[in-house]
Amino acid sequence: MSTHLDWLQDELQALGDAGLYNNIRTISSPQGAWLQIEGRRVLNFCSNNYLGLANHPRLVEAAKKAIDHYGVGPGAVRIISGTNDLHIELEKRMARFKAVEAALSLQSGFQANAATIPALVGKEDVIFSDRLNHASIIDGCRLSGGKIIPYDHCDVVSLEAVIKENLAQFRRAMIITDGVFSMDGDVAPLDKIYEVAKKYDILLMVDDAHGEGVLGKGGRGIVDHFGLHGKVDVEIGTMSKAFGVVGGVVAGKAVIIEWLRQRGRPFLFSSAVTPPDAAACIAAIDILETSTELVDRLWENARYFKAELKRIGYDMGVSTTPITPVMLGEAPLAQQFSRELFEVGVFAMATGFPIVPLGKARIRVMISAAHAKEDLDKGLDAFALVGKKLGVI
Ligand SMILES: *Cc1c(COP(=O)(O)O)cnc(C)c1O
Repeated sequence: MSTHLDWLQDELQALGDAGLYNNIRTISSPQGAWLQIEGRRVLNFCSNNYLGLANHPRLVEAAKKAIDHYGVGPGAVRIISGTNDLHIELEKRMARFKAVEAALSLQSGFQANAATIPALVGKEDVIFSDRLNHASIIDGCRLSGGKIIPYDHCDVVSLEAVIKENLAQFRRAMIITDGVFSMDGDVAPLDKIYEVAKKYDILLMVDDAHGEGVLGKGGRGIVDHFGLHGKVDVEIGTMSKAFGVVGGVVAGKAVIIEWLRQRGRPFLFSSAVTPPDAAACIAAIDILETSTELVDRLWENARYFKAELKRIGYDMGVSTTPITPVMLGEAPLAQQFSRELFEVGVFAMATGFPIVPLGKARIRVMISAAHAKEDLDKGLDAFALVGKKLGVI
């Protein structure tokens, strides 16, 4: 008998046939270099836990203490009774870490984009957006109702061309780019983008989700990496990647943060991160402010792993960061590659359309400071084995 939901079965079937169905693994251990998945111990090449902080004893301890003192729930949205001193401390500490005027804590990086872009852009305005920007930026732009004009990926000539052609027809404008592009691991030319923003007096926003804890001095992010302190109006960040916890952050000019406290809808209408989350985030900042050791180890690991993969014969596209895309081409091949890796004890996810363009499917290896050299060597052996078996190298 047919029903009004049949179309969903058909769509799911079509995803499966195209090799685009997400098979989600269930993990029963903490995040780290190794994971317990479905009864097996496997090497973890999938998480954004760049610095190994997700299960760091100092963060765990801070979270436990916060639970003892504050309990587990924030109680309400922040403007009613959900702002506690941990949120305020986290915001102050984040602002200091990133050397910005002010910062705002939100529930996630996704929510940070959903809060910020519609608060700063309206129907009469235009957004110049890198073609490969993250889905949460794209959704934030759509929510704003502004006109979205894409420019070619990381291409300032294209950016300036679309600005010249369109700027005069709109009330105000904004340039938005990812800092580190999460699927390719390349870095936006933010110094050059800033020059264009300055020339045309346009608001500049960068999403530093994969840059915080990775780029810049001691992981201070892309603005530090390019020495652009005070020049980028607003930065989006997440506490769920290098910081190892969960939550979003907006950092930048004080007037923007003040405006978001009044007009950022996810801030106004959705509850904050919990006290243990906030306390763990503060502990992560403590660690990063004290030592560059974890960030240094992350880069050392990434350099070693990428050099060895290249030597074996793999193509890692345009990555210049610890994000290591192993380019394979068609989605079914990437999925089979991922399954074969899992069989030999390595957990590395295949990524295909629509997350990356058709025909550009890949295995994305995420290197972490948590990996020991022996872990990386085990991973390299697995890539050599599976690559030969499937005729890729
Ligand atoms: C991961 C990511 C986000 C989302 O962060 P969450 O805190 O997981 O919601 C937003 N923007 C970019 C560029 C990201 O890579």
